[in-house]
Amino acid sequence: MSDYEDAIETLEDTTLGLGEGLRRRPVWDLERESLSSEIPVFRDVNELLDDDDASVLAEEDDGVGCPLPSTPEDEHLLDCEITEVLKAGVLSDEIDLGALAHNAAEQAEEFVRKVWEASWKVCHFRNLPRWLQDNDYLLGGHRPPLPSFYACFRSIFRIHTETGNIWTHLLGCVAFIGVATYFLTRPSVEIQLQEKLVFAAFFAGAILCLGLSFAFHTVHCHSECVGKLFSKLDYCGIAMLIMGSFVPWLYYGFYCQFQPKLIYLSVVICLGISAIIVSLWDRFSEPRYRPLRAGVFMVFGLSGVVPAVHYAISEGWFNALSRASLGWLILMGCLYILGAMFYALRVPERFFPGKCDIWFQSHQIFHVLVIAAAFVHYHGISEMAMYRMTVGECTTQNAAAMAF
Ligand SMILES: [Zn+2]
Repeated sequence: MSDYEDAIETLEDTTLGLGEGLRRRPVWDLERESLSSEIPVFRDVNELLDDDDASVLAEEDDGVGCPLPSTPEDEHLLDCEITEVLKAGVLSDEIDLGALAHNAAEQAEEFVRKVWEASWKVCHFRNLPRWLQDNDYLLGGHRPPLPSFYACFRSIFRIHTETGNIWTHLLGCVAFIGVATYFLTRPSVEIQLQEKLVFAAFFAGAILCLGLSFAFHTVHCHSECVGKLFSKLDYCGIAMLIMGSFVPWLYYGFYCQFQPKLIYLSVVICLGISAIIVSLWDRFSEPRYRPLRAGVFMVFGLSGVVPAVHYAISEGWFNALSRASLGWLILMGCLYILGAMFYALRVPERFFPGKCDIWFQSHQIFHVLVIAAAFVHYHGISEMAMYRMTVGECTTQNAAAMAF
């Protein structure tokens, strides 16, 4: 007999059927045997309980189907869960019948929940509930609904359609936390407080974007309302990354021109807030609005062309390339646009349905391009900061311009 069959038998022997009636546990058995011989009424109760066992058993045989998984994937994991539950049962010394029934019900629920969490199997797209059906070019390998955050976070270590999405942004987030910690803890003689604050806006945007994206992909399958809430947070994170990216570029690009800097920053904040408001719209996350989503963030990101062209016209294209890291800015824009196109067009899985279920799907490529774009931007703004350090503060001519 396999471990799993053992587990089911133990479940049948030790728990009560949920909503089906009272059943017994091993800890009772000794009590029941001794009590049955002494008290005739208790013998009748025992017989009733045994009958109930049989009826529950008969019903349990039918109830198997997707998405409720029934076959354990990881038998070792299942063993551990069962041992834990059995230990909890054996160690219990309750003998009060009411309390026993209540405890048994709770432990049975806990047991079923643990076995279920440990044993879920990946599903086909058509077996997912409608709220989890997002990309129909990914045929298999989907997580079923996992209505527990614990189970969702454990699924990070399993292979399914979201594994790549989860890990790309988790590692990206950790990398940015590392870079931000290094940068912000430099002594102030090396990097001044004001510069740290300007860079912190970018780091905060990047860390929030990657962190919220990681969280969304992890708990997306928890339930419909949790999935919706986190998808909104995911989009807000993208808006915050774009806003945070503008801050250092505008700060250094218009270092000595107070007025354009203020105007552009205000426009960026307004656009960012608008993008967040649109993201909070309930239907924004629906699959049919995928191109709209890509469009909103592309337009927001591309609005950076206006201050970049302004800079290039006023300072000259050569200066724009050398001092304002326009080359890096253009490369970053290309990476974002490329990522958004992969995302919106769902390439390559569109051409190979079912072949990119686990790896190389459009969303993973989009994630990698977002991380690459964020690092390119970090490099660009670092160059701009270095340039500012070498030329020093604004000249009197610039300072006069600042006054206007
Ligand atoms: Zn994502």
